Amino acid sequence: MCLECRQKVEYIEEPRCKKCGKPIRYEEQEYCYDCTQHIFHYEQGMSIWLHKGPVRWSVYQFKYHNRRIFAEFYAKEWWRIYGNQLKKWGIDVIIPVPLHQKRRRKRGYNQSEILANELGKQCNIPVDSQSVIRIVNTRPQKELNNKERKTNLNNAFEVTQHWRRAKKVLLIDDIYTTGNTIDSIARLLKQKGAEKVYFLTISIGQGF
Ligand SMILES: [Zn+2]
Repeated sequence: MCLECRQKVEYIEEPRCKKCGKPIRYEEQEYCYDCTQHIFHYEQGMSIWLHKGPVRWSVYQFKYHNRRIFAEFYAKEWWRIYGNQLKKWGIDVIIPVPLHQKRRRKRGYNQSEILANELGKQCNIPVDSQSVIRIVNTRPQKELNNKERKTNLNNAFEVTQHWRRAKKVLLIDDIYTTGNTIDSIARLLKQKGAEKVYFLTISIGQGF
């Protein structure tokens, strides 16, 4: 149930892609079309809902209208649904997908950081918002086509001196669409010694 509009919201059901967690039609498929076409650097990830209807509205309110109160709800849902999965993954540190400094200043906050902090409180895992920064103020991914999205993120992120090698990292973002953002950071962290990189997002774009 959506907190504000009271519309019923459906959780993502099985079967799901073993990599990105998108719903797939048949169990035997194992992976969604997208994950059979790309080699991703991250290990695995999950989202709570599909990015549509009231969820889409709710994430938008949270992201652009500073409805920070939603973050606690999202984090509790993550913990309720994926708590066991997080324990299995053995996460050492939670890292939010960073915003460029300029955009963060303009918006006044980074929604992924708020989410990461809320989740950190739920599961008692340290949150590190300083080790990964966005050095290029990229155009919003939603304004670009698939090809542009990929090149848009080339060298957009950097690992700072704050980074202390953690074996298992959980990346936090609001929405998973093509996976390019999460994967750019996963690739970078692995170059810097991370062994496994997972992700959680609130919502995920519809499967192909
Ligand atoms: Zn997939």
